[in-house]
Amino acid sequence: MPRLRHIVLSAFALLIAPCSTLRAQRAIECEQCADWNAPQRALRLHGDTYYVGTHGLGAILITSPQGHVLIDGGLPQSAPIVRANIESLGFRMRDVKLILNSHAHYDHAGGIAELQRASGARVMASEWSARVLKSGKSQPGDPQLTIAFGYPAVGNVRPFTFEDTLRVGPIAIVPHATPGHTPGGTAWSWRSCDGARCLDFVYADSETPVSADDFLFTKNTTYPNAIADFARGFATLEGLSCEVLVTPHPGVSSLWDRVSPVTGAIGATFVDRDACKRYAAGARRALEQRIARERGG
Ligand SMILES: [Zn+2]
Repeated sequence: MPRLRHIVLSAFALLIAPCSTLRAQRAIECEQCADWNAPQRALRLHGDTYYVGTHGLGAILITSPQGHVLIDGGLPQSAPIVRANIESLGFRMRDVKLILNSHAHYDHAGGIAELQRASGARVMASEWSARVLKSGKSQPGDPQLTIAFGYPAVGNVRPFTFEDTLRVGPIAIVPHATPGHTPGGTAWSWRSCDGARCLDFVYADSETPVSADDFLFTKNTTYPNAIADFARGFATLEGLSCEVLVTPHPGVSSLWDRVSPVTGAIGATFVDRDACKRYAAGARRALEQRIARERGG
């Protein structure tokens, strides 16, 4: 009987083997997940920079003849959409050489394990984010620790330091520490050229002071520097050369007012040299309100 069972199991393994490239990801079900994961066709933003995310969760592809860089992977269930978007542009997954992340919450990092598997890309993250990505579970210091969903762990993550410029062929992309929403939050900047016309892009991290009910920004033991970290990040964003701002939730930086999600037509406000400054100012106000609420109540 054991031998027969072995044969049956082997035959079954052979039957399912061709499907292994379509490995299904267990979907995370959250209140906003379906809206966030609404399909969005891939769009060329400028030069070698493309939007390949879902309608509500950003993912950016920067391309070169020597390989591509992908920032963020959405939810676990976003990975097939991001992959299809990359391929719809005529690019191959195996040419994605480097995958990066804004912050290691499930809605921006949940799809990275699958996208790494499909591409073989190197994944690099800030030290704190690397710990989360490797475990698939948030870590102490996260204001949302007790409410953050787990997601597929990423097998091979290398930490970078904020002094590094990361490179793939001619692509040079710079990480900027903008912690606060999580201790590992990272903004990314790069220059994208279309012929002689070059633009400074910033993919800024989420800057919202969101937490679980059991966490106070003004008084906690797990992330006592949260408020100072936010302040440092706001100053960093204000100091960047920032001509085009994109954010992990594209609506937060009004991407769909600046680029048609249907035709990809670029609007007059696509380039906005004050966008990062305004983004930081809005986040600073939201943090001040949160601090006032914590102190008042
Ligand atoms: Zn988050």
